[in-house]
Amino acid sequence: MGLVVQKFGGTSVADAERMRAVADHVAFTRKRGDQVVLVVSAMGKETDDLLRLASEVGGSTKAGREMDMLITAGERKATALLCLALHEKGVPAESYTGSQAGFITDTTHTNAKILEIRPDRLRKALEADVVPVVGGAQGVSTDHDVTFLGRGGSDTTAVALAQALGADACELYTDVSGVYTADPRLVGSAHRIDHITFDEMLEMCASGCPKPAMRSVEFARTHGVRLHVRSAFTWEPGTWITEEDPMEHAIVSGVVDDDSEAKLTVSGVPDRPGIAARLFRTLADADINVDMIVQNVSEAGVTDISFTLPREDLTEGQRIAEEIAAEIGATGVVPDTHIARVSLVGAGMKSNPGVAATMFEVLAAEGVNIEMISTSAIRISCVVPEDDLDRAVVALHGAFDLATG
Ligand code: ADP
Ligand code: ASP
Ligand code: MG
Repeated sequence: MGLVVQKFGGTSVADAERMRAVADHVAFTRKRGDQVVLVVSAMGKETDDLLRLASEVGGSTKAGREMDMLITAGERKATALLCLALHEKGVPAESYTGSQAGFITDTTHTNAKILEIRPDRLRKALEADVVPVVGGAQGVSTDHDVTFLGRGGSDTTAVALAQALGADACELYTDVSGVYTADPRLVGSAHRIDHITFDEMLEMCASGCPKPAMRSVEFARTHGVRLHVRSAFTWEPGTWITEEDPMEHAIVSGVVDDDSEAKLTVSGVPDRPGIAARLFRTLADADINVDMIVQNVSEAGVTDISFTLPREDLTEGQRIAEEIAAEIGATGVVPDTHIARVSLVGAGMKSNPGVAATMFEVLAAEGVNIEMISTSAIRISCVVPEDDLDRAVVALHGAFDLATG
Protein backbone atom coordinates (compact mmCIF):
# COMPACT_ATOMS: atom_id res chain seq x y z
CA MET A 1 0.00 0.00 0.00
CA GLY A 2 1.35 3.41 -0.97
CA LEU A 3 0.67 6.96 0.15
CA VAL A 4 0.00 9.64 -2.43
CA VAL A 5 -0.64 13.37 -2.05
CA GLN A 6 -3.12 14.58 -4.69
CA LYS A 7 -3.49 18.32 -5.26
CA PHE A 8 -6.37 19.78 -7.28
CA GLY A 9 -6.10 23.21 -8.92
CA GLY A 10 -8.92 25.75 -9.18
CA THR A 11 -10.39 24.52 -12.47
CA SER A 12 -10.32 20.92 -11.24
CA VAL A 13 -12.74 21.76 -8.40
CA ALA A 14 -14.56 24.68 -10.05
CA ASP A 15 -18.14 23.45 -9.45
CA ALA A 16 -20.25 20.66 -7.94
CA GLU A 17 -19.82 18.37 -10.94
CA ARG A 18 -16.04 18.70 -10.78
CA MET A 19 -16.07 18.08 -7.01
CA ARG A 20 -17.97 14.84 -7.67
CA ALA A 21 -15.51 13.80 -10.41
CA VAL A 22 -12.59 14.39 -8.04
CA ALA A 23 -14.36 12.42 -5.30
CA ASP A 24 -14.82 9.51 -7.74
CA HIS A 25 -11.12 9.56 -8.55
CA VAL A 26 -10.18 9.57 -4.87
CA ALA A 27 -12.51 6.61 -4.25
CA PHE A 28 -10.83 4.83 -7.18
CA THR A 29 -7.33 5.52 -5.80
CA ARG A 30 -8.34 4.08 -2.44
CA LYS A 31 -9.86 0.99 -4.06
CA ARG A 32 -6.52 0.46 -5.79
CA GLY A 33 -5.12 0.17 -2.27
CA ASP A 34 -3.37 3.53 -1.80
CA GLN A 35 -3.84 6.01 1.02
CA VAL A 36 -4.60 9.54 -0.10
CA VAL A 37 -4.02 13.03 1.31
CA LEU A 38 -5.77 15.79 -0.64
CA VAL A 39 -4.79 19.42 -1.11
CA VAL A 40 -7.21 21.84 -2.77
CA SER A 41 -7.04 25.30 -4.33
CA ALA A 42 -9.88 27.78 -4.19
CA MET A 43 -12.68 26.94 -6.66
CA GLY A 44 -12.30 28.31 -10.20
CA LYS A 45 -11.12 31.91 -10.19
CA GLU A 46 -12.16 32.59 -6.61
CA THR A 47 -8.74 33.84 -5.50
CA ASP A 48 -8.87 36.52 -8.24
CA ASP A 49 -12.47 37.35 -7.25
CA LEU A 50 -11.50 37.81 -3.59
CA LEU A 51 -8.57 40.04 -4.56
CA ARG A 52 -10.89 42.14 -6.74
CA LEU A 53 -13.45 42.42 -3.96
CA ALA A 54 -10.76 43.63 -1.58
CA SER A 55 -9.74 46.39 -3.96
CA GLU A 56 -13.41 47.36 -4.51
CA VAL A 57 -13.98 47.69 -0.78
CA GLY A 58 -11.35 50.34 -1.11
CA GLY A 59 -9.25 49.56 1.91
CA SER A 60 -5.56 48.93 1.65
CA THR A 61 -5.02 45.78 -0.42
CA LYS A 62 -1.37 45.67 0.61
CA ALA A 63 -0.09 42.41 2.04
CA GLY A 64 -1.30 42.05 5.59
CA ARG A 65 -3.26 40.09 8.14
CA GLU A 66 -6.72 40.77 6.72
CA MET A 67 -5.74 40.03 3.13
CA ASP A 68 -4.47 36.59 4.15
CA MET A 69 -7.58 35.88 6.18
CA LEU A 70 -9.63 36.80 3.11
CA ILE A 71 -7.69 34.90 0.42
CA THR A 72 -7.34 31.66 2.41
CA ALA A 73 -11.14 31.58 2.84
CA GLY A 74 -11.32 30.37 -0.78
CA GLU A 75 -9.34 27.22 -0.10
CA ARG A 76 -11.12 26.62 3.19
CA LYS A 77 -14.50 26.60 1.44
CA ALA A 78 -13.22 24.13 -1.15
CA THR A 79 -11.98 21.65 1.50
CA ALA A 80 -15.40 21.44 3.15
CA LEU A 81 -17.27 21.05 -0.15
CA LEU A 82 -14.90 18.33 -1.34
CA CYS A 83 -15.41 16.47 1.95
CA LEU A 84 -19.18 16.59 1.41
CA ALA A 85 -18.70 15.15 -2.09
CA LEU A 86 -16.44 12.41 -0.69
CA HIS A 87 -18.96 11.50 2.03
CA GLU A 88 -21.59 11.15 -0.69
CA LYS A 89 -19.36 8.51 -2.35
CA GLY A 90 -18.92 6.70 0.95
CA VAL A 91 -15.34 7.93 1.48
CA PRO A 92 -14.63 9.11 5.04
CA ALA A 93 -12.95 12.54 4.83
CA GLU A 94 -12.13 15.50 7.07
CA SER A 95 -11.27 19.08 6.10
CA TYR A 96 -8.22 20.84 7.58
CA THR A 97 -7.08 24.45 7.35
CA GLY A 98 -3.35 24.98 6.88
CA SER A 99 -3.09 25.74 10.58
CA GLN A 100 -4.93 22.55 11.58
CA ALA A 101 -2.72 20.55 9.20
CA GLY A 102 0.33 21.85 11.08
CA PHE A 103 1.81 24.39 8.65
CA ILE A 104 3.87 26.85 10.71
CA THR A 105 5.08 29.83 8.67
CA ASP A 106 6.98 33.06 9.11
CA THR A 107 5.05 36.33 9.44
CA THR A 108 5.47 37.56 5.83
CA HIS A 109 1.82 38.07 4.92
CA THR A 110 0.68 37.09 1.41
CA ASN A 111 4.01 35.42 0.65
CA ALA A 112 4.70 33.43 3.82
CA LYS A 113 7.46 30.84 3.99
CA ILE A 114 6.92 27.45 5.62
CA LEU A 115 9.12 27.06 8.70
CA GLU A 116 7.91 23.68 9.91
CA ILE A 117 5.14 21.13 9.36
CA ARG A 118 3.61 19.18 12.24
CA PRO A 119 1.14 16.89 10.45
CA ASP A 120 0.16 14.88 13.56
CA ARG A 121 -3.57 15.30 12.97
CA LEU A 122 -3.23 14.18 9.36
CA ARG A 123 -1.32 11.06 10.44
CA LYS A 124 -4.05 10.26 12.96
CA ALA A 125 -6.69 10.70 10.27
CA LEU A 126 -4.80 8.33 7.94
CA GLU A 127 -4.49 5.76 10.73
CA ALA A 128 -8.28 5.96 11.15
CA ASP A 129 -8.68 5.43 7.37
CA VAL A 130 -9.99 8.99 6.94
CA VAL A 131 -8.91 11.08 3.92
CA PRO A 132 -7.52 14.44 5.11
CA VAL A 133 -8.48 17.32 2.78
CA VAL A 134 -6.09 20.22 3.36
CA GLY A 135 -6.56 23.85 2.31
CA GLY A 136 -3.66 24.79 0.00
CA ALA A 137 -1.37 27.79 0.21
CA GLN A 138 -1.96 28.54 3.90
CA GLY A 139 -0.58 28.17 7.38
CA VAL A 140 -0.34 29.86 10.74
CA SER A 141 2.46 32.27 11.57
CA THR A 142 4.72 32.26 14.60
CA ASP A 143 2.51 35.22 15.69
CA HIS A 144 -0.57 32.91 15.50
CA ASP A 145 -2.07 34.70 12.50
CA VAL A 146 -3.42 33.01 9.36
CA THR A 147 -0.93 33.31 6.50
CA PHE A 148 -1.13 32.84 2.73
CA LEU A 149 1.82 31.21 0.94
CA GLY A 150 1.35 33.23 -2.27
CA ARG A 151 -0.13 32.63 -5.74
CA GLY A 152 0.30 29.02 -6.78
CA GLY A 153 1.08 28.18 -3.15
CA SER A 154 -1.16 25.09 -3.13
CA ASP A 155 1.45 23.26 -5.23
CA THR A 156 3.96 24.04 -2.47
CA THR A 157 1.55 22.82 0.23
CA ALA A 158 1.19 19.52 -1.63
CA VAL A 159 4.91 18.95 -2.16
CA ALA A 160 5.74 19.94 1.43
CA LEU A 161 3.11 17.52 2.75
CA ALA A 162 4.40 14.72 0.52
CA GLN A 163 7.83 15.24 2.06
CA ALA A 164 6.57 15.56 5.65
CA LEU A 165 4.44 12.41 5.39
CA GLY A 166 6.99 10.42 3.36
CA ALA A 167 4.53 9.96 0.46
CA ASP A 168 5.54 7.89 -2.56
CA ALA A 169 4.57 10.65 -4.98
CA CYS A 170 2.93 14.04 -5.23
CA GLU A 171 0.34 14.38 -7.98
CA LEU A 172 -0.57 17.89 -9.14
CA TYR A 173 -3.89 17.71 -11.01
CA THR A 174 -4.73 20.53 -13.38
CA ASP A 175 -6.70 21.30 -16.55
CA VAL A 176 -4.05 20.09 -19.01
CA SER A 177 -2.51 16.62 -19.08
CA GLY A 178 0.97 17.70 -17.95
CA VAL A 179 3.79 20.07 -18.81
CA TYR A 180 3.68 20.86 -22.52
CA THR A 181 6.36 21.74 -25.09
CA ALA A 182 4.73 25.21 -25.21
CA ASP A 183 1.64 26.85 -23.73
CA PRO A 184 -1.14 24.77 -25.33
CA ARG A 185 -3.33 27.88 -25.52
CA LEU A 186 -0.79 29.46 -27.89
CA VAL A 187 0.54 26.51 -29.86
CA GLY A 188 -2.00 23.99 -31.16
CA SER A 189 0.66 21.38 -31.89
CA ALA A 190 2.22 21.55 -28.42
CA HIS A 191 2.29 18.17 -26.73
CA ARG A 192 2.90 16.71 -23.31
CA ILE A 193 6.46 16.07 -22.15
CA ASP A 194 6.35 12.62 -20.50
CA HIS A 195 9.47 13.09 -18.42
CA ILE A 196 11.47 16.18 -17.51
CA THR A 197 14.35 16.75 -15.09
CA PHE A 198 14.16 19.19 -12.18
CA ASP A 199 16.84 21.37 -13.83
CA GLU A 200 14.81 21.81 -17.01
CA MET A 201 11.54 22.30 -15.14
CA LEU A 202 13.07 25.00 -12.94
CA GLU A 203 14.39 26.84 -16.00
CA MET A 204 10.93 26.62 -17.57
CA CYS A 205 9.32 27.96 -14.36
CA ALA A 206 11.85 30.80 -14.14
CA SER A 207 11.10 31.68 -17.78
CA GLY A 208 7.38 32.01 -17.11
CA CYS A 209 5.79 28.53 -17.35
CA PRO A 210 2.88 28.77 -14.85
CA LYS A 211 2.66 25.09 -14.03
CA PRO A 212 3.87 23.82 -11.57
CA ALA A 213 4.63 26.74 -9.22
CA MET A 214 8.39 27.27 -9.08
CA ARG A 215 8.64 27.11 -5.29
CA SER A 216 7.07 23.67 -5.29
CA VAL A 217 9.58 22.40 -7.85
CA GLU A 218 12.48 23.81 -5.83
CA PHE A 219 11.12 22.15 -2.70
CA ALA A 220 10.61 18.83 -4.51
CA ARG A 221 14.14 18.88 -5.85
CA THR A 222 15.71 19.71 -2.48
CA HIS A 223 13.77 16.97 -0.70
CA GLY A 224 13.63 14.34 -3.44
CA VAL A 225 9.83 14.36 -3.88
CA ARG A 226 8.66 12.70 -7.12
CA LEU A 227 6.29 15.08 -8.89
CA HIS A 228 3.61 14.08 -11.37
CA VAL A 229 1.67 16.84 -13.19
CA ARG A 230 -1.52 15.42 -14.71
CA SER A 231 -5.09 16.06 -15.79
CA ALA A 232 -8.14 16.06 -13.51
CA PHE A 233 -10.28 15.85 -16.68
CA THR A 234 -8.88 12.92 -18.65
CA TRP A 235 -7.04 11.28 -15.70
CA GLU A 236 -4.38 9.96 -18.11
CA PRO A 237 -0.72 9.69 -16.97
CA GLY A 238 1.01 13.08 -17.27
CA THR A 239 4.50 14.53 -16.85
CA TRP A 240 6.94 13.09 -14.32
CA ILE A 241 9.45 15.56 -12.90
CA THR A 242 12.34 13.70 -11.30
CA GLU A 243 16.09 13.82 -10.79
CA GLU A 244 16.62 10.90 -13.18
CA ASP A 245 18.72 11.80 -16.16
CA PRO A 246 17.62 10.28 -19.46
CA MET A 247 20.54 8.98 -21.55
CA GLU A 248 19.70 11.19 -24.51
CA HIS A 249 18.80 14.77 -23.76
CA ALA A 250 16.41 16.58 -26.07
CA ILE A 251 18.25 19.61 -27.46
CA VAL A 252 15.18 21.73 -26.83
CA SER A 253 12.44 20.43 -24.50
CA GLY A 254 10.16 23.43 -24.50
CA VAL A 255 9.44 27.01 -25.60
CA VAL A 256 8.20 29.34 -22.85
CA ASP A 257 6.44 32.68 -23.27
CA ASP A 258 6.19 35.38 -20.65
CA ASP A 259 4.44 38.74 -20.93
CA SER A 260 4.48 39.58 -17.23
CA GLU A 261 7.57 41.81 -17.24
CA ALA A 262 8.45 45.36 -18.24
CA LYS A 263 11.77 46.96 -19.15
CA LEU A 264 13.49 50.00 -17.64
CA THR A 265 16.44 51.69 -19.33
CA VAL A 266 18.68 54.08 -17.41
CA SER A 267 20.56 56.12 -19.99
CA GLY A 268 23.70 58.21 -19.83
CA VAL A 269 25.03 56.33 -16.81
CA PRO A 270 28.60 57.31 -15.80
CA ASP A 271 30.78 54.24 -16.43
CA ARG A 272 32.63 53.79 -13.15
CA PRO A 273 32.81 51.15 -10.40
CA GLY A 274 29.93 50.94 -7.95
CA ILE A 275 27.14 52.51 -10.02
CA ALA A 276 25.38 49.26 -10.98
CA ALA A 277 25.85 47.96 -7.44
CA ARG A 278 24.15 51.08 -6.09
CA LEU A 279 21.15 50.85 -8.43
CA PHE A 280 20.51 47.13 -8.03
CA ARG A 281 21.08 47.09 -4.25
CA THR A 282 18.42 49.78 -3.83
CA LEU A 283 15.98 47.83 -6.03
CA ALA A 284 16.72 44.61 -4.11
CA ASP A 285 16.16 46.37 -0.78
CA ALA A 286 12.71 47.38 -2.09
CA ASP A 287 11.99 43.67 -2.78
CA ILE A 288 11.99 44.19 -6.55
CA ASN A 289 13.00 41.05 -8.36
CA VAL A 290 15.12 42.19 -11.30
CA ASP A 291 15.54 39.62 -14.05
CA MET A 292 17.54 40.26 -17.25
CA ILE A 293 20.20 42.99 -17.13
CA VAL A 294 22.10 44.39 -20.11
CA GLN A 295 24.78 47.07 -19.95
CA ASN A 296 25.91 48.61 -23.22
CA VAL A 297 29.51 49.26 -24.26
CA SER A 298 30.43 52.65 -22.88
CA GLU A 299 31.10 55.58 -25.17
CA ALA A 300 32.87 58.67 -23.88
CA GLY A 301 32.58 57.40 -20.31
CA VAL A 302 28.80 56.91 -20.30
CA THR A 303 26.67 53.83 -20.90
CA ASP A 304 23.05 52.60 -20.82
CA ILE A 305 21.74 49.93 -18.43
CA SER A 306 18.49 48.10 -19.24
CA PHE A 307 16.78 45.55 -17.03
CA THR A 308 13.46 43.74 -16.77
CA LEU A 309 11.23 43.54 -13.69
CA PRO A 310 7.68 42.35 -12.93
CA ARG A 311 5.11 44.78 -14.44
CA GLU A 312 3.43 45.24 -11.07
CA ASP A 313 6.73 46.60 -9.70
CA LEU A 314 7.30 49.03 -12.58
CA THR A 315 6.02 52.18 -10.85
CA GLU A 316 8.11 51.61 -7.74
CA GLY A 317 11.13 50.45 -9.80
CA GLN A 318 10.93 53.54 -12.00
CA ARG A 319 10.69 55.81 -8.96
CA ILE A 320 13.82 54.23 -7.46
CA ALA A 321 15.71 54.29 -10.79
CA GLU A 322 14.87 57.99 -11.25
CA GLU A 323 16.09 58.81 -7.76
CA ILE A 324 19.40 56.99 -8.27
CA ALA A 325 19.74 58.41 -11.79
CA ALA A 326 19.56 61.93 -10.38
CA GLU A 327 22.13 61.13 -7.70
CA ILE A 328 24.67 59.57 -10.07
CA GLY A 329 24.17 62.06 -12.88
CA ALA A 330 22.51 59.68 -15.40
CA THR A 331 20.48 61.43 -18.10
CA GLY A 332 17.15 59.60 -17.94
CA VAL A 333 14.95 56.59 -17.20
CA VAL A 334 12.73 55.13 -19.93
CA PRO A 335 10.03 52.53 -19.14
CA ASP A 336 8.73 50.03 -21.73
CA THR A 337 5.72 47.85 -20.94
CA HIS A 338 5.33 46.49 -24.46
CA ILE A 339 7.94 43.78 -24.16
CA ALA A 340 7.77 40.04 -23.69
CA ARG A 341 10.22 37.21 -23.34
CA VAL A 342 10.52 33.98 -25.30
CA SER A 343 12.81 31.23 -24.00
CA LEU A 344 14.10 27.88 -25.22
CA VAL A 345 14.89 25.30 -22.54
CA GLY A 346 16.67 22.00 -23.07
CA ALA A 347 19.39 20.01 -21.31
CA GLY A 348 20.86 18.92 -24.67
CA MET A 349 21.90 22.52 -25.41
CA LYS A 350 24.96 21.98 -23.27
CA SER A 351 26.49 19.62 -25.81
CA ASN A 352 24.97 20.96 -29.04
CA PRO A 353 26.35 24.17 -30.52
CA GLY A 354 24.23 26.37 -32.75
CA VAL A 355 20.97 26.46 -30.81
CA ALA A 356 21.28 30.20 -30.17
CA ALA A 357 22.20 30.86 -33.80
CA THR A 358 19.16 28.90 -35.02
CA MET A 359 16.90 30.72 -32.54
CA PHE A 360 18.09 34.13 -33.78
CA GLU A 361 17.70 33.04 -37.44
CA VAL A 362 14.13 31.88 -36.81
CA LEU A 363 13.26 35.20 -35.12
CA ALA A 364 14.95 37.13 -37.94
CA ALA A 365 12.97 35.21 -40.57
CA GLU A 366 9.79 36.23 -38.72
CA GLY A 367 10.95 39.85 -38.68
CA VAL A 368 11.08 39.83 -34.87
CA ASN A 369 13.61 42.24 -33.39
CA ILE A 370 15.59 40.99 -30.38
CA GLU A 371 15.96 43.64 -27.68
CA MET A 372 17.84 41.68 -25.00
CA ILE A 373 19.40 38.21 -24.75
CA SER A 374 20.32 36.13 -21.72
CA THR A 375 21.45 32.52 -21.42
CA SER A 376 22.17 29.77 -18.92
CA ALA A 377 23.73 26.37 -19.69
CA ILE A 378 20.32 24.99 -20.67
CA ARG A 379 18.26 28.10 -21.60
CA ILE A 380 18.30 30.96 -24.11
CA SER A 381 15.91 33.89 -23.56
CA CYS A 382 15.19 36.83 -25.85
CA VAL A 383 13.20 39.95 -25.02
CA VAL A 384 11.05 40.83 -28.04
CA PRO A 385 8.22 43.31 -28.75
CA GLU A 386 5.05 42.09 -27.01
CA ASP A 387 3.06 42.09 -30.25
CA ASP A 388 5.49 39.60 -31.82
CA LEU A 389 5.44 37.12 -28.92
CA ASP A 390 2.83 34.64 -30.16
CA ARG A 391 4.37 34.51 -33.64
CA ALA A 392 7.84 33.96 -32.16
CA VAL A 393 6.65 31.08 -29.94
CA VAL A 394 4.83 29.29 -32.78
CA ALA A 395 7.81 29.70 -35.17
CA LEU A 396 10.36 28.44 -32.62
CA HIS A 397 8.15 25.50 -31.62
CA GLY A 398 8.01 24.47 -35.29
CA ALA A 399 11.67 25.13 -36.05
CA PHE A 400 12.92 22.91 -33.23
CA ASP A 401 10.68 20.00 -34.26
CA LEU A 402 8.76 20.03 -31.01
CA ALA A 403 5.47 19.38 -32.75
CA THR A 404 6.55 15.86 -33.71
CA GLY A 405 7.38 14.92 -30.12
P1 ADP B 1 -3.92 25.13 -11.56
O1 ADP B 1 -4.84 26.26 -11.24
O2 ADP B 1 -4.61 23.86 -11.93
O3 ADP B 1 -2.91 24.92 -10.50
P2 ADP B 1 -2.84 26.91 -13.57
O4 ADP B 1 -4.11 27.44 -14.16
O5 ADP B 1 -2.08 27.78 -12.64
O6 ADP B 1 -3.11 25.51 -12.88
O7 ADP B 1 -1.88 26.46 -14.76
C1 ADP B 1 -2.34 25.57 -15.76
C2 ADP B 1 -2.37 26.28 -17.09
O8 ADP B 1 -1.03 26.61 -17.47
C3 ADP B 1 -2.87 25.43 -18.23
O9 ADP B 1 -4.25 25.60 -18.41
C4 ADP B 1 -2.09 25.93 -19.45
O10 ADP B 1 -2.90 26.67 -20.34
C5 ADP B 1 -1.03 26.85 -18.87
N1 ADP B 1 0.30 26.58 -19.42
C6 ADP B 1 1.14 27.51 -19.93
N2 ADP B 1 2.27 26.96 -20.39
C7 ADP B 1 2.17 25.63 -20.17
C8 ADP B 1 3.01 24.52 -20.42
N3 ADP B 1 4.20 24.65 -21.03
N4 ADP B 1 2.59 23.30 -20.06
C9 ADP B 1 1.39 23.15 -19.44
N5 ADP B 1 0.54 24.16 -19.17
C10 ADP B 1 0.92 25.39 -19.51
N1 ASP C 1 -5.76 29.75 -5.08
C1 ASP C 1 -4.44 30.31 -5.01
C2 ASP C 1 -4.05 30.91 -6.35
O1 ASP C 1 -4.88 30.98 -7.23
C3 ASP C 1 -3.44 29.32 -4.54
C4 ASP C 1 -3.24 28.17 -5.49
O2 ASP C 1 -4.13 27.79 -6.22
O3 ASP C 1 -2.16 27.60 -5.50
O4 ASP C 1 -2.96 31.35 -6.53
MG1 MG D 1 -3.82 27.98 -10.06
